[in-house]
Amino acid sequence: MKLLQESDHSRSIIKGLKSANKTIGLVPTMGALHQGHISLVRESLIANNVTIVTIFVNPIQFNNPEDFEKYPNSIQDDLDLLEDLGVDYVFMPAVSEMYAEDPIINLSFGHLEKVMEGKHRPGHFSGVAIIVAKLFNILAPDRAYFGQKDLQQLKIIEQMVSDLSMDVDLIMMPIIREKNGLAMSSRNRRLSRQGQEIASQISSSLIMAHDILIKGGENSEAVLSAKVYLEQYQEINTEYLELVSYKDLRPVTADTQTNRLVLCFAGYVEGIRLIDNVIVSK
Ligand code: AMP
Repeated sequence: MKLLQESDHSRSIIKGLKSANKTIGLVPTMGALHQGHISLVRESLIANNVTIVTIFVNPIQFNNPEDFEKYPNSIQDDLDLLEDLGVDYVFMPAVSEMYAEDPIINLSFGHLEKVMEGKHRPGHFSGVAIIVAKLFNILAPDRAYFGQKDLQQLKIIEQMVSDLSMDVDLIMMPIIREKNGLAMSSRNRRLSRQGQEIASQISSSLIMAHDILIKGGENSEAVLSAKVYLEQYQEINTEYLELVSYKDLRPVTADTQTNRLVLCFAGYVEGIRLIDNVIVSK
Protein backbone atom coordinates (compact mmCIF):
# COMPACT_ATOMS: atom_id res chain seq x y z
CA MET A 1 0.00 0.00 0.00
CA LYS A 2 1.38 3.38 -0.98
CA LEU A 3 0.75 6.61 0.86
CA LEU A 4 0.12 9.68 -1.31
CA GLN A 5 0.16 13.18 0.12
CA GLU A 6 0.72 15.50 -2.83
CA SER A 7 -1.76 16.25 -5.58
CA ASP A 8 0.76 16.52 -8.43
CA HIS A 9 2.51 13.29 -7.54
CA SER A 10 -0.90 11.59 -7.25
CA ARG A 11 -1.95 12.88 -10.68
CA SER A 12 1.15 11.35 -12.28
CA ILE A 13 0.46 7.99 -10.58
CA ILE A 14 -3.14 8.14 -11.85
CA LYS A 15 -1.93 8.90 -15.38
CA GLY A 16 0.20 5.74 -15.28
CA LEU A 17 -2.72 3.65 -14.01
CA LYS A 18 -5.03 5.00 -16.72
CA SER A 19 -2.55 4.32 -19.48
CA ALA A 20 -2.31 0.74 -18.19
CA ASN A 21 -6.14 0.58 -18.46
CA LYS A 22 -6.64 0.08 -14.72
CA THR A 23 -10.03 0.96 -13.29
CA ILE A 24 -9.92 3.09 -10.15
CA GLY A 25 -12.32 2.88 -7.21
CA LEU A 26 -12.33 5.76 -4.73
CA VAL A 27 -13.51 5.70 -1.12
CA PRO A 28 -13.46 9.18 0.44
CA THR A 29 -13.36 9.19 4.25
CA MET A 30 -12.42 11.40 7.17
CA GLY A 31 -10.62 8.52 8.92
CA ALA A 32 -11.33 6.95 12.34
CA LEU A 33 -12.37 3.98 10.25
CA HIS A 34 -15.06 1.48 11.24
CA GLN A 35 -16.93 -1.37 9.58
CA GLY A 36 -19.13 1.09 7.66
CA HIS A 37 -16.07 2.47 5.87
CA ILE A 38 -14.69 -1.04 5.45
CA SER A 39 -17.83 -2.18 3.62
CA LEU A 40 -17.24 0.56 1.02
CA VAL A 41 -13.58 -0.41 0.69
CA ARG A 42 -14.40 -4.10 0.22
CA GLU A 43 -16.90 -3.28 -2.51
CA SER A 44 -14.33 -1.14 -4.31
CA LEU A 45 -11.70 -3.87 -4.05
CA ILE A 46 -14.09 -6.32 -5.71
CA ALA A 47 -15.14 -4.04 -8.58
CA ASN A 48 -11.93 -2.19 -9.52
CA ASN A 49 -8.32 -2.94 -10.40
CA VAL A 50 -7.07 -0.26 -8.03
CA THR A 51 -8.64 1.10 -4.85
CA ILE A 52 -7.74 4.48 -3.40
CA VAL A 53 -8.99 5.45 0.06
CA THR A 54 -8.73 9.10 1.03
CA ILE A 55 -8.39 10.23 4.62
CA PHE A 56 -8.93 13.94 5.02
CA VAL A 57 -10.83 15.81 7.72
CA ASN A 58 -12.14 18.61 5.55
CA PRO A 59 -12.16 21.84 7.57
CA ILE A 60 -14.47 23.74 5.22
CA GLN A 61 -17.41 21.38 5.76
CA PHE A 62 -17.50 21.88 9.54
CA ASN A 63 -19.81 24.61 10.67
CA ASN A 64 -19.02 23.83 14.31
CA PRO A 65 -15.31 24.45 15.14
CA GLU A 66 -15.42 22.19 18.21
CA ASP A 67 -16.73 19.29 16.11
CA PHE A 68 -13.74 19.77 13.77
CA GLU A 69 -11.16 20.03 16.56
CA LYS A 70 -12.50 16.99 18.38
CA TYR A 71 -13.05 14.87 15.29
CA PRO A 72 -11.66 11.40 16.17
CA ASN A 73 -8.28 10.48 14.71
CA SER A 74 -6.69 7.01 14.66
CA ILE A 75 -4.40 7.29 11.69
CA GLN A 76 -1.98 4.44 12.40
CA ASP A 77 -4.82 1.97 13.09
CA ASP A 78 -6.57 3.18 9.92
CA LEU A 79 -3.47 2.62 7.78
CA ASP A 80 -2.86 -0.85 9.28
CA LEU A 81 -6.48 -1.79 8.59
CA LEU A 82 -6.38 -0.57 4.99
CA GLU A 83 -3.08 -2.35 4.34
CA ASP A 84 -4.54 -5.63 5.67
CA LEU A 85 -7.56 -5.21 3.40
CA GLY A 86 -5.30 -4.91 0.34
CA VAL A 87 -5.95 -1.26 -0.49
CA ASP A 88 -3.55 0.03 -3.16
CA TYR A 89 -3.23 3.73 -2.26
CA VAL A 90 -4.19 6.02 0.59
CA PHE A 91 -4.42 9.69 -0.33
CA MET A 92 -3.88 11.68 2.86
CA PRO A 93 -3.09 15.29 2.03
CA ALA A 94 -2.32 18.07 4.50
CA VAL A 95 -4.90 20.86 4.76
CA SER A 96 -2.36 23.22 3.13
CA GLU A 97 -2.08 20.84 0.16
CA MET A 98 -5.82 20.88 -0.46
CA TYR A 99 -6.36 24.54 0.39
CA ALA A 100 -3.20 26.51 -0.36
CA GLU A 101 -5.63 29.42 -0.19
CA ASP A 102 -9.18 29.47 1.11
CA PRO A 103 -11.49 28.65 -1.81
CA ILE A 104 -13.84 31.47 -2.73
CA ILE A 105 -16.14 29.30 -4.81
CA ASN A 106 -19.47 28.49 -3.19
CA LEU A 107 -21.70 25.69 -4.43
CA SER A 108 -25.41 25.66 -3.75
CA PHE A 109 -27.89 22.89 -4.32
CA GLY A 110 -31.34 24.43 -4.42
CA HIS A 111 -34.12 22.38 -2.88
CA LEU A 112 -31.66 19.58 -1.99
CA GLU A 113 -30.13 21.68 0.76
CA LYS A 114 -33.25 23.42 2.01
CA VAL A 115 -34.03 20.47 4.28
CA MET A 116 -32.33 18.53 7.07
CA GLU A 117 -28.52 18.79 7.06
CA GLY A 118 -28.56 21.69 4.62
CA LYS A 119 -30.96 23.63 6.80
CA HIS A 120 -29.19 22.89 10.08
CA ARG A 121 -25.56 23.09 8.90
CA PRO A 122 -25.20 26.21 6.75
CA GLY A 123 -22.30 25.95 4.30
CA HIS A 124 -21.77 22.27 5.03
CA PHE A 125 -22.70 20.92 1.60
CA SER A 126 -20.73 23.53 -0.29
CA GLY A 127 -17.68 22.36 1.69
CA VAL A 128 -18.49 18.72 1.00
CA ALA A 129 -19.01 19.30 -2.72
CA ILE A 130 -15.77 21.28 -3.04
CA ILE A 131 -13.64 18.58 -1.44
CA VAL A 132 -15.33 15.77 -3.38
CA ALA A 133 -14.88 17.67 -6.65
CA LYS A 134 -11.20 18.19 -5.82
CA LEU A 135 -10.74 14.50 -5.04
CA PHE A 136 -12.48 13.52 -8.29
CA ASN A 137 -10.28 15.95 -10.25
CA ILE A 138 -7.04 14.77 -8.67
CA LEU A 139 -7.74 11.03 -8.54
CA ALA A 140 -10.03 10.59 -11.58
CA PRO A 141 -11.90 7.55 -10.26
CA ASP A 142 -14.11 5.37 -12.45
CA ARG A 143 -16.30 4.62 -9.43
CA ALA A 144 -16.72 6.34 -6.07
CA TYR A 145 -18.33 4.75 -3.03
CA PHE A 146 -20.55 6.51 -0.50
CA GLY A 147 -22.72 5.34 2.39
CA GLN A 148 -26.51 5.62 2.63
CA LYS A 149 -25.85 6.88 6.15
CA ASP A 150 -25.12 10.30 4.62
CA LEU A 151 -27.93 10.07 2.09
CA GLN A 152 -28.37 13.82 1.60
CA GLN A 153 -24.62 14.12 0.96
CA LEU A 154 -24.87 11.45 -1.71
CA LYS A 155 -27.84 13.19 -3.37
CA ILE A 156 -25.83 16.42 -3.44
CA ILE A 157 -22.85 14.66 -5.01
CA GLU A 158 -25.11 12.94 -7.56
CA GLN A 159 -26.49 16.35 -8.50
CA MET A 160 -23.01 17.83 -8.84
CA VAL A 161 -21.82 14.92 -11.00
CA SER A 162 -24.87 15.26 -13.23
CA ASP A 163 -24.91 19.07 -13.47
CA LEU A 164 -21.18 19.29 -14.16
CA SER A 165 -20.97 16.19 -16.42
CA MET A 166 -18.38 14.52 -14.25
CA ASP A 167 -17.25 11.14 -15.52
CA VAL A 168 -17.64 8.94 -12.45
CA ASP A 169 -20.13 6.29 -11.32
CA LEU A 170 -21.44 6.77 -7.80
CA ILE A 171 -22.23 3.70 -5.75
CA MET A 172 -24.34 3.78 -2.59
CA MET A 173 -23.68 1.20 0.11
CA PRO A 174 -26.12 0.30 2.92
CA ILE A 175 -25.78 1.49 6.51
CA ILE A 176 -23.67 -0.80 8.69
CA ARG A 177 -24.91 -0.94 12.28
CA GLU A 178 -23.74 -2.08 15.69
CA LYS A 179 -25.52 -5.15 17.12
CA ASN A 180 -27.84 -2.85 19.05
CA GLY A 181 -28.84 -1.06 15.82
CA LEU A 182 -26.76 2.11 16.28
CA ALA A 183 -25.51 3.29 12.88
CA MET A 184 -21.71 3.07 12.91
CA SER A 185 -20.02 6.45 12.92
CA SER A 186 -16.58 7.77 13.76
CA ARG A 187 -18.31 10.15 16.17
CA ASN A 188 -19.65 7.17 18.20
CA ARG A 189 -16.14 6.93 19.66
CA ARG A 190 -16.87 10.12 21.56
CA LEU A 191 -19.90 8.55 23.27
CA SER A 192 -19.74 6.77 26.62
CA ARG A 193 -20.84 3.14 26.70
CA GLN A 194 -24.14 4.24 28.17
CA GLY A 195 -24.45 6.94 25.50
CA GLN A 196 -23.97 4.31 22.80
CA GLU A 197 -26.76 2.19 24.31
CA ILE A 198 -29.14 5.14 24.50
CA ALA A 199 -28.22 6.25 20.98
CA SER A 200 -29.33 2.84 19.71
CA GLN A 201 -32.90 3.97 20.43
CA ILE A 202 -32.60 6.28 17.41
CA SER A 203 -32.62 3.33 15.02
CA SER A 204 -35.37 1.65 17.07
CA SER A 205 -37.56 4.72 16.54
CA LEU A 206 -36.86 4.73 12.80
CA ILE A 207 -37.66 1.03 12.49
CA MET A 208 -40.88 1.55 14.40
CA ALA A 209 -41.99 4.31 12.03
CA HIS A 210 -40.87 2.24 9.05
CA ASP A 211 -43.08 -0.65 10.17
CA ILE A 212 -46.08 1.65 10.66
CA LEU A 213 -45.65 2.95 7.11
CA ILE A 214 -45.19 -0.50 5.61
CA LYS A 215 -48.43 -1.63 7.25
CA GLY A 216 -50.28 1.25 5.58
CA GLY A 217 -50.19 3.77 8.46
CA GLU A 218 -50.40 7.50 7.77
CA ASN A 219 -47.14 9.40 7.21
CA SER A 220 -47.88 11.84 10.01
CA GLU A 221 -48.79 9.04 12.41
CA ALA A 222 -45.49 7.25 11.72
CA VAL A 223 -43.37 10.38 12.22
CA LEU A 224 -45.23 11.35 15.37
CA SER A 225 -44.85 7.85 16.84
CA ALA A 226 -41.09 7.96 16.30
CA LYS A 227 -40.87 11.42 17.89
CA VAL A 228 -42.96 10.36 20.89
CA TYR A 229 -40.86 7.22 21.26
CA LEU A 230 -37.66 9.28 21.36
CA GLU A 231 -39.13 11.74 23.84
CA GLN A 232 -38.92 8.99 26.47
CA TYR A 233 -35.15 9.39 26.36
CA GLN A 234 -34.14 12.74 27.79
CA GLU A 235 -30.56 12.04 26.77
CA ILE A 236 -31.56 12.18 23.09
CA ASN A 237 -31.97 15.72 21.82
CA THR A 238 -33.71 15.49 18.44
CA GLU A 239 -32.78 18.20 15.93
CA TYR A 240 -35.04 16.91 13.17
CA LEU A 241 -36.97 13.80 12.27
CA GLU A 242 -38.27 14.23 8.76
CA LEU A 243 -40.01 12.07 6.22
CA VAL A 244 -38.93 13.02 2.71
CA SER A 245 -39.18 11.64 -0.80
CA TYR A 246 -36.25 9.33 -1.56
CA LYS A 247 -35.82 10.69 -5.07
CA ASP A 248 -35.40 14.39 -4.38
CA LEU A 249 -35.59 14.75 -0.57
CA ARG A 250 -38.63 17.00 -0.81
CA PRO A 251 -40.69 16.92 2.38
CA VAL A 252 -43.61 14.51 2.10
CA THR A 253 -47.00 16.16 1.89
CA ALA A 254 -50.51 14.82 1.37
CA ASP A 255 -49.92 15.25 -2.42
CA THR A 256 -46.66 13.30 -2.55
CA GLN A 257 -47.07 10.56 -5.14
CA THR A 258 -43.97 8.46 -4.63
CA ASN A 259 -43.93 5.17 -2.75
CA ARG A 260 -40.23 5.47 -1.94
CA LEU A 261 -39.62 7.58 1.12
CA VAL A 262 -36.83 8.08 3.61
CA LEU A 263 -37.13 8.90 7.27
CA CYS A 264 -34.12 10.89 8.45
CA PHE A 265 -32.95 11.73 11.96
CA ALA A 266 -30.36 14.13 13.33
CA GLY A 267 -29.81 14.90 16.96
CA TYR A 268 -27.45 14.95 19.89
CA VAL A 269 -26.47 12.42 22.54
CA GLU A 270 -23.92 13.59 25.14
CA GLY A 271 -23.35 16.65 22.95
CA ILE A 272 -22.32 14.51 19.94
CA ARG A 273 -24.26 15.03 16.73
CA LEU A 274 -25.56 11.80 15.20
CA ILE A 275 -27.52 11.10 12.02
CA ASP A 276 -29.39 8.05 10.78
CA ASN A 277 -32.06 7.18 8.24
CA VAL A 278 -34.22 4.37 6.98
CA ILE A 279 -35.58 3.94 3.46
CA VAL A 280 -39.26 3.02 3.20
CA SER A 281 -40.54 1.30 0.05
CA LYS A 282 -44.32 1.17 0.39
P1 AMP B 1 -16.97 9.81 6.90
O1 AMP B 1 -15.60 9.31 7.22
O2 AMP B 1 -17.89 9.86 8.08
O3 AMP B 1 -16.96 11.07 6.07
O4 AMP B 1 -17.62 8.71 5.96
C1 AMP B 1 -16.99 8.28 4.77
C2 AMP B 1 -17.97 7.46 3.98
O5 AMP B 1 -18.36 6.32 4.74
C3 AMP B 1 -19.26 8.22 3.63
O6 AMP B 1 -19.63 7.90 2.30
C4 AMP B 1 -20.23 7.68 4.65
O7 AMP B 1 -21.57 7.74 4.20
C5 AMP B 1 -19.77 6.25 4.78
N1 AMP B 1 -20.23 5.70 6.06
C6 AMP B 1 -20.11 6.27 7.28
N2 AMP B 1 -20.72 5.51 8.22
C7 AMP B 1 -21.26 4.45 7.57
C8 AMP B 1 -22.02 3.31 7.98
N3 AMP B 1 -22.36 3.12 9.25
N4 AMP B 1 -22.39 2.43 7.04
C9 AMP B 1 -22.04 2.61 5.73
N5 AMP B 1 -21.32 3.66 5.28
C10 AMP B 1 -20.93 4.56 6.17
